[in-house]
Amino acid sequence: MKRILGLMMRAAGPYAPQFRTTLRISMLASLVQALAYATFIPLLAALAAQPVDTATAWFWLGVLAVLVAVEGVLRLRESSFTFDYWHLVTGEMRTRLGDRLRSMPQQELARRDAGDLTTVVGSNVTSAATGISSFSTLFVRLVTVPAVIGLVVLVVDWRLAMVLVVAVVVSVPLLRRLRFLSNTGFRRVDAANADAAGRIVEYVQGLPVFKATGQAGADSPRLAEVFDHQREANAESNRSASVPVAALQFLVQVAVVALVALGAALVLDARLTLPLLLAIVVAAARFAEPLGAAVTMTKLFEMSEAALGRVSEVLDTEPLPTRPNGRAPESFDITFTGVGFTYDGRTEPALRDVSLEVPERSLTALVGPSGSGKTTATRLITRFADPQAGVVRLGGVDVGTLAPEELMRHIAVVFQDVYLFDDTILANIAMGRPGATRAEVVEAARAANAHAFIENLPDGYNTRVGEIGSALSGGERQRISIARAILKDAPVVLLDEPTAALDTESEVVVQQAIDNLVAGRTVVVIAHRLSTVVRADQIIVFEQGGVVQRGTHAELLGEQGRYAQMWRAQTRAKNWRLAPTVEASFRRSARSAG
Ligand code: ADP
Repeated sequence: MKRILGLMMRAAGPYAPQFRTTLRISMLASLVQALAYATFIPLLAALAAQPVDTATAWFWLGVLAVLVAVEGVLRLRESSFTFDYWHLVTGEMRTRLGDRLRSMPQQELARRDAGDLTTVVGSNVTSAATGISSFSTLFVRLVTVPAVIGLVVLVVDWRLAMVLVVAVVVSVPLLRRLRFLSNTGFRRVDAANADAAGRIVEYVQGLPVFKATGQAGADSPRLAEVFDHQREANAESNRSASVPVAALQFLVQVAVVALVALGAALVLDARLTLPLLLAIVVAAARFAEPLGAAVTMTKLFEMSEAALGRVSEVLDTEPLPTRPNGRAPESFDITFTGVGFTYDGRTEPALRDVSLEVPERSLTALVGPSGSGKTTATRLITRFADPQAGVVRLGGVDVGTLAPEELMRHIAVVFQDVYLFDDTILANIAMGRPGATRAEVVEAARAANAHAFIENLPDGYNTRVGEIGSALSGGERQRISIARAILKDAPVVLLDEPTAALDTESEVVVQQAIDNLVAGRTVVVIAHRLSTVVRADQIIVFEQGGVVQRGTHAELLGEQGRYAQMWRAQTRAKNWRLAPTVEASFRRSARSAG
């Protein structure tokens, strides 16, 4: 209970004080409510007296009326939290999650899929907030009211109170069991829901591919599988909880019957008056009622606990630790010194003992077969994660001493898969430098060879990406991404050269755009084109996570190494620019080398 309360306090964030006050009000209201029930005892006793004790009866009736009124006022205050703060709490929680996601280490972000995060920020926040605003006060009521009534019954007749004590003692292990079962059940249901959400996102994104391969129906096997799993998890969760639920409800009935039976025996024995018994039975019914509701409540409570847990997990992910030393890079060469890196959950290192230098304002091409570590090397420059061994430096400054946003001010990245937001083309380019003027955006678009095609869109720069959607070709999307990078005007450019086959014309314009982007900057390019490789100031050849050769094209041709083999394979092949040929030749030579 303490743990859940702690989770709730954290999730309530800045509204924790209001939440705490609400819980106190709720406790007070429940106390008053229980006392109101308890006034039945003296009230009925006064009414049953021979002759009727009118004065006392009126007195207790008055007390009852006052208590009921006070409870009403308190409940009104209690529910105002639900109405006034629920949306504030959810909004604030989502903002905090958003902040966390932004500072989340890229590796961690890459590990979670979009559907999973959608569930956390969407429905998990809703359940968590509902738990905070509604279930918590209900829970307080469920605990407080029976406790106070139990005490009152104890004062009136300890033998009857014993029946209630026994009922509570017996139900505790049952409630525990139920809690355990529904807890594991809910976690499973929640995980199944997140899985399903992930698959749906994947499905929608991959719809064109599924259509092409004839898997687009709702019975697509990949979707059907997660839905089946989701249904089973729900059924299993309900099944496992049903026995303890029934047992608990039965127990409550038995307790009431036992109370009446014992009370009747005491009355017959003249050790208890009938009105007192009546009053106790009325109060005991109040005692049993919340116990029955507790069963349903437990489920709802566990649901919000699971949600709170998932929200907290995201809130708890620490940003990459930065060890600031007050130095900012002033020059922009990049060095790796003895860098070793293994991805979370992998045993094989992706990079081993890599040392390299990328001089300022030079073009360095990374080549090597797929999986050799080229992408990983560029990721470490942006602090996707920190290497386990060695140091990556920018302008002589360890990148681990720079906060990611500080570091990224100096680096523009152009990936192959260009992400465009559902906003105008103008806004999509302006992302490169928030606050850029329209004229600056247009200038960047011109340099990226994108101006002409943008002008031809229905609304020019104001065309919304969502409205033209897939009407943008691969080359056009790439040029938008290059325009972003040009606008950013960062001294370092990391470029994953497009591999997708573009038609000759787009290829020329994309290449020109890239040339404009890289001019005068420190550039690291994962090269797929021989033309890029040939004119690079330096070529670094990767193989199995290590650097096996480095030098200019001419130097490397002179050495009888991997690069020369690759070059020979390339020149034999008709199609020069096909990266897979390069990679195939690497794989062949790697195999023949053992
Ligand atoms: P390249 O860019 O040369 O194709 P990568 O740097 O992408 O090579 O991959 C190097 C190694 O790291 C490969 O064995 C790959 O499977 C692994 N790897 C790459 N990205 C991840 C990731 N996000 N999680 C786990 N392993 C990864």
